[in-house]
Amino acid sequence: MNLTKKILIALVAGALVGLGFNIFVPEAVFNGFDEYLFTPLGQIFLNLIMMVVVPLVLFSIILGAAGLGDPKALGRIGGKALIYFMATSVIALSLAISLAYLIQPGEPGLMGDLDETYQADEAPPVMETLLNIIPQNPIEAMASGEMLQIIAFAILVGLALGRLGEKTKGIVKLVEQGNEVMMFLVGIAMKLAPYGAFGLIASAIGKLGLSVLQSMLAYMFTIIIALILHTIITYGGAVAIFAKRNPIEHFKAYIPVMAVAFSTSSSNATLPTAMKVTEQDLKVSKPVTSFVVPLGATINMDGTAIMQAVATVFIAQVFAVSLSFMDLLTIILTATLASIGTAGVPGVGMIMLAMVLSSVGLPVEGITLVLAVDRILDMMRTAVNVTGDSACAVIIDRYERKRLEKEVAAEPTES
Ligand code: ASP
Repeated sequence: MNLTKKILIALVAGALVGLGFNIFVPEAVFNGFDEYLFTPLGQIFLNLIMMVVVPLVLFSIILGAAGLGDPKALGRIGGKALIYFMATSVIALSLAISLAYLIQPGEPGLMGDLDETYQADEAPPVMETLLNIIPQNPIEAMASGEMLQIIAFAILVGLALGRLGEKTKGIVKLVEQGNEVMMFLVGIAMKLAPYGAFGLIASAIGKLGLSVLQSMLAYMFTIIIALILHTIITYGGAVAIFAKRNPIEHFKAYIPVMAVAFSTSSSNATLPTAMKVTEQDLKVSKPVTSFVVPLGATINMDGTAIMQAVATVFIAQVFAVSLSFMDLLTIILTATLASIGTAGVPGVGMIMLAMVLSSVGLPVEGITLVLAVDRILDMMRTAVNVTGDSACAVIIDRYERKRLEKEVAAEPTES
């Protein structure tokens, strides 16, 4: 049986087992199973992939930047990726806001009184995030897993290696081999993916159950529809039109990556798998994969943006606040920035929602209303987040290949 099938079966089995425990088994018994079986299964897998994330991002982006040769190529690819990330975010947000108005998930007074227990963490100011991209101490950045900072450091080192050429050939070789080692470890971790996915899902669903989901059906439904439409129309369309590939085959190849994203709720944790599949199955060139996929995993989060837009409109509806057109534009702007600033780990999108809510003057405590079902939605939006990166990678890959062909054709042939 191939890995995709195994992971899918594990997801379904995990959900059923979790649900069974939630409905039929006393909580204390579930907690015992959770502590000694489900959580450890998930945690071993999670730790294994998290273990390789920082070195993998460092090595692969260094190689990507060095391999592209000159800063111009880096700027070209980076620029295209940023345009794609922004454009798809704005489409995602417009779609999410429109659906939230159409479906009207938040009836006023629907949720009863606000429970004031949720303390929102402060979302970091945008300017601070931007300035902090260049790390004062790269070792510290790596130790604390600051992805944007690691990416910035790696790009600079890669550019330097590209420039120094022969002189630093040894380091490039070393980084290449380091990358090979990490990829090998990813392969081992992936063999454990079905067990990890089973444990993670059984643990999450066992804790949540179905009852909490029922009261929030309209809210969840709105987000899920937006996620599905965005994936099929925006990504499917982009892959077909700009990359000239068959979107169905593209999505099919990406199922294992989506499944890992779904079970880990973390773009960072999914990165190693995403890179492997993008390069090996989607056949995207190494430099493009190593540059676009980690960058996307860190800053491109359309699924998160969709949740933030729907949640904001939902909370406004529940509080009977009407949002002006300017407010909606503000939501689009801040949610785009918030999704860039969201770290690719579980639940951060919720924290960044605070920033979007305050930008239009809604009470941050509104987060309490949507918190209960966020675990499930986090799984789904993370799967969309990582799929967006793959669409970007195949599009840029096509443009780079075309460019290369033109260059080859333009070269004078010796006779
Ligand atoms: N869990 C999401 C991710 O890693 C981020 C979020 O929306 O919380 O992509």
